[in-house]
Amino acid sequence: MKFEKSQKLYEKGLVHLVGAVNSPVRAFSSVGGNPLFIKKAKGTKITDVDGNEYVDLVLSYGPMILGHRHKKVQKAISKALKKGYSFGASTKNEIKLAKIVCDAFPGMDKVRFVNSGTEAVLSGIRLARAFTGKDKIIKFSGCYHGHQDALLVAAGSGLATLSLPGSKGVPEGAVKNTLIAGFNNLESVKKHFENDDNIAGVIIEPIAGNMGVVIPQDNFLVELKAYLETKGALLIADEVMTGFRSKFGGAQEILGVEADITCLGKVIGGGFPVGAYGARNEIMQEVAPLGGMYQAGTLSGNPIAMASGIATLKELKKQNPYAEFEEFSSILEVILLETAKKYDVDLVVNRFGSMVNPFFRKGEVTNFEEAQESDTKKFAVFFWEMIKNGVFLPPSQFESWFLSSALTKKDLEKITKAIDLAMRKVADSF
Ligand SMILES: *Cc1c(COP(=O)(O)O)cnc(C)c1O
Repeated sequence: MKFEKSQKLYEKGLVHLVGAVNSPVRAFSSVGGNPLFIKKAKGTKITDVDGNEYVDLVLSYGPMILGHRHKKVQKAISKALKKGYSFGASTKNEIKLAKIVCDAFPGMDKVRFVNSGTEAVLSGIRLARAFTGKDKIIKFSGCYHGHQDALLVAAGSGLATLSLPGSKGVPEGAVKNTLIAGFNNLESVKKHFENDDNIAGVIIEPIAGNMGVVIPQDNFLVELKAYLETKGALLIADEVMTGFRSKFGGAQEILGVEADITCLGKVIGGGFPVGAYGARNEIMQEVAPLGGMYQAGTLSGNPIAMASGIATLKELKKQNPYAEFEEFSSILEVILLETAKKYDVDLVVNRFGSMVNPFFRKGEVTNFEEAQESDTKKFAVFFWEMIKNGVFLPPSQFESWFLSSALTKKDLEKITKAIDLAMRKVADSF
């Protein structure tokens, strides 16, 4: 397999782009080597500029849940393109997408569209503060909520991959209202409340995906929500990754919890930049122009992005692929574990619906600390061997593999073969 053209573009890219990427997770920092440059994608396959074709388990880090360029989505986008790109005024499709979203999440009476997950969360946090009149926010170690200053501490995969504790350029003042708790550790949340009556709410990835996939244990979410109610604090669900992916109604639908504020992104735009935050009327009442919390966006509710989002969510709802996701990912789990056993490699698999994450370590992963004990060197070897055998994975031990509803038995065969070769390579290398 040749990567000559990718290599050339990478060198060219270094001149005017930082690290030749526009998001650090796309750099191959933790797996070594240089990032691939992509030419095109269709269905379950993605093709790099050297013409190498891969089964795509990155899916743009989640958004492409139907696979690439689904016919219906492409048609909707083409149609929208003919009418104009941006108007600075409302369109019918914004109302349409809002209804789809609010119908899917019972806790949302109203929604505001923004342009990214980062924007959705920073607005959601502002809203929690506006509504409660309190300043502090608790976040969980290892959860990532976008790159806004206030939440860029103990923030999971991107930073963990680069071994950064937090980010340079974030002033102390920006994080002084951010408190850290341990995922799956309700006591660590309670402790903060015992010492503080200025806490607006708790933000969580209900199923964590950014420290690798980590599942809430027992009734963690339900108990957390019940506890917060006794404190008059809000539960902010960051479902940027899990919204429409874990289930149409997100992780909340599965876990049986209704968040006070929900933040969405990724799948909601079907590959275009869309984020959203929403809540019940009483809370959304705070947002301008109804209330005094300001939040705005020149391109928010962009007509092309709305068309893509509507077409994606409609098709997704129709396909209802969640049982298939569960089946596919359970097969993948068994294959990973059996292959690891065959070659005597320590491996544990966390998965939830269409998110699958093998960790190269012994013993379970229930929080960030345990995730970080994984052997990233083994992952790097595994990663490159998967690439060489035609499977495109996120270049980090701490990122989920994403499934699309377009995956076929043939894709699974290819993935299975690659896993066998990659696991053998890991066993031979250590
Ligand atoms: C991806 C992600 C974000 C950030 O979304 P962007 O669109 O990259 O800004 C926030 N929260 C979670 C849980 C995410 O997975």
